[in-house]
Amino acid sequence: MTAPGDGPRGAVIERENPSRTSELVGTVGVSGPERVDALVRRADAAQRSWAATGIARRLAALAAGADAIAGRLEPLAELLARESGKVLADCRGEVGFAGTYLRWVVEHAPAAYADREIDDAAGRLLRLPRPYGVVAAITPWNAPIILTLLKVAPALAAGNAVVVKPSPLAPLAVSEVLRLLAGALPDGTLAVVHGDAAAGAALVGHPLVRKVAFTGGGVAARQVAATAATQTTPVVLELGGNDAAIFLPDADLGTEPMRRLVLASFATSGQVCMAAKRLYVHRGRREEFVAAYRAAAAEVLRVGDALTPGVSMGPVISAGAVARIEQIVAAAVARGATALPLGTVDGGTDLAGGYFVAPTLVLDAPDDAEVITGEQFGPTVPLLLYDDEEELLARVNADELGLGGSVWSADEERAFALARRVEAGFVFVNTHNRTGLSLRAPFGGVKRSGYGREYAEEGLAEYAQTCVVHAPGPFRPGGAGLPANAYPG
Ligand code: NAD
Repeated sequence: MTAPGDGPRGAVIERENPSRTSELVGTVGVSGPERVDALVRRADAAQRSWAATGIARRLAALAAGADAIAGRLEPLAELLARESGKVLADCRGEVGFAGTYLRWVVEHAPAAYADREIDDAAGRLLRLPRPYGVVAAITPWNAPIILTLLKVAPALAAGNAVVVKPSPLAPLAVSEVLRLLAGALPDGTLAVVHGDAAAGAALVGHPLVRKVAFTGGGVAARQVAATAATQTTPVVLELGGNDAAIFLPDADLGTEPMRRLVLASFATSGQVCMAAKRLYVHRGRREEFVAAYRAAAAEVLRVGDALTPGVSMGPVISAGAVARIEQIVAAAVARGATALPLGTVDGGTDLAGGYFVAPTLVLDAPDDAEVITGEQFGPTVPLLLYDDEEELLARVNADELGLGGSVWSADEERAFALARRVEAGFVFVNTHNRTGLSLRAPFGGVKRSGYGREYAEEGLAEYAQTCVVHAPGPFRPGGAGLPANAYPG
């Protein structure tokens, strides 16, 4: 039994299984404004002693949390698959990767958050990376565990307390992960509130919240930034992308790169911020590319229930997502495009019983069709043809979003040269999406894909602000009769 919410009239969020919508996976109580206020105040009260604990003890607690999560990998992965429709193998990968990231933080935080003292002729300068206080983490549903820990782990390591608001579309597994982690921490240091935009806004706008870390879409991001601005609270925004995968004329269209590419577009049913969302191929290789792509999809793309072994693509997240994606494809087809079906279907799955959308490759859509100009965030990807590299770059960079991208070529130097000119926070070479992720590569967008970074040292730096204690060098009087108020020379 779930406790009733503490929000208005004890409201609860019921989460169904997107693979079988008749199955209720679980419920969480909605947090009302009083609950949000109480948890932020508790976090604020806990934060100072957490910061004073010292980094070694904080990291020991995070390591214990990582062990507790690792010990529950299988049930956590299954719960995530049930509530999100993401296939079980991917969910195992996400939970395992969350542990890997926690341990990476434990290893790298001591250097990132160390005091640094410089004592030289210019004086004595102490640089102190100081925690902000209470951090609010607002996260989406598509990779809820890793996207939450990318904020929570460095924030806690730096000495902040954290209050998380997960997406109401996948609140269950991440709450369990946070419960396990909180078990290793002092009371109040890590808390969770539940609900939709109202709960998120109550958290972001709270006067005791000192930093906001948000991952999600552009519409919510602008509201979050506006709410945070009422308290002058700094924000990190990790937003959507419309990543181009650029195939140069010499690119290898063999089995391995094509498999990587298909999964780069269709893993998690295309609901990934850095999915390959526009495929640019030289006009001369169109037929060859389509044949190779369809063959790879037939091998690696099997649609069905997220818990069925061998299935590589599950449903999408909601009935609304089904309607939105089908409308985008239909609109392109109405303007002369062709939607080629891809992959195979698991015979044991009742597709009508879940939020399934057939994966498609869209050919010949006009450049201003929504399937090209927007983040489709579903299992459909358009193929676009180009003749010349400069025209190609102009079309790729015309997009307002600038999260990721990829360049595929047999000549790595040529790929790197073009990659430098793609307006994106990160560009992969001869791969795309998860198979290109690295803990040492900072992750985040340019243009309307947001600001701030996760992963790597930059991701740690987001959670501490450098303050200084400074005893400058010898007093230097001003020259030739001027008062002694000179600037440093
Ligand atoms: P969303 O923007 O609808 O919601 C994200 C979170 O914000 C949820 O918890 C939601 O309840 C909350 N929220 C919504 N309005 C709010 C408000 N006014 N104040 C406070 N909180 C509010 O996004 P989504 O549908 O959950 O996720 C999909 C989007 O996330 C896509 O655009 C995707 O590309 C993006 N995304 C980006 C990254 C990245 O790292 N760049 C990673 C994953 C997903």
